[in-house]
Amino acid sequence: MDIVFHGKPGSGKGTQSDNICEKLGVVAVSTGDLIRAEIKGNTEMGQQIKAYSEAGKLVPDELVMDILAQRLEQEDVAGGVLFDGFPRTANQAKMLEAWLGERGRKVDAVFALEITDAESMFRCTYRLGCSDKVNCGKDTHIYYHRPTVIARSEADETPIFACRKCGKKLVMRNDALPLKVQTRIDTYHEETDPLVELLGTEFGYPVFKIDGMPGIQEIEDAINVVIEENLR
Ligand code: AMP
Repeated sequence: MDIVFHGKPGSGKGTQSDNICEKLGVVAVSTGDLIRAEIKGNTEMGQQIKAYSEAGKLVPDELVMDILAQRLEQEDVAGGVLFDGFPRTANQAKMLEAWLGERGRKVDAVFALEITDAESMFRCTYRLGCSDKVNCGKDTHIYYHRPTVIARSEADETPIFACRKCGKKLVMRNDALPLKVQTRIDTYHEETDPLVELLGTEFGYPVFKIDGMPGIQEIEDAINVVIEENLR
């Protein structure tokens, strides 16, 4: 089974993906994560794509496909993938269809998590990431999760918060600045919204729109209903 998962920045794709993967026996592959890893590793590819990604713009299709193709060569994805944040353009959708088709597979469903622009902005700009990206990497929202203050900076008493999963220090994500978030929201409206429609109309994939505004458990329940009723 292969699933496409879309939603504005902060819509909860990362949070919900574990549950979907477990229920459907698929492996999550996030092009955003793959792209961030290339940039962090300062690879040749990372240097080419850095400016696009850090400005909140889409990385050109051929480059995303190159990065993704490498990941899809690994054995763990043979049984099915949850594509998080991919495809984002009609061209990418065609490439994905071709790649799956060559392997006798197809997109079985598209999940779109829907939140307002204001909620997207609030979730992204008040979100901190665990400083231990290797062993933990959990995100925490300052307002929704009210993390514990473990220390204060000597300079100006700014609180330093603890990760809700491992207790280590939380740090600001470098995609949390409002201007960058706004560009990503605008890009979503310009490129991804029309694409999600196209995936239903032109590509003929079943598209399931899920309200991403309630709490984490409520969203998970709604996703589980879609899975039970349509994908079992
Ligand atoms: P995400 O974490 O999915 O919001 O992705 C972070 C950033 O990576 C985006 O703002 C884009 O710059 C880039 N990116 C991720 N997926 C894609 C894609 N399928 N096509 C083009 N750019 C992408």
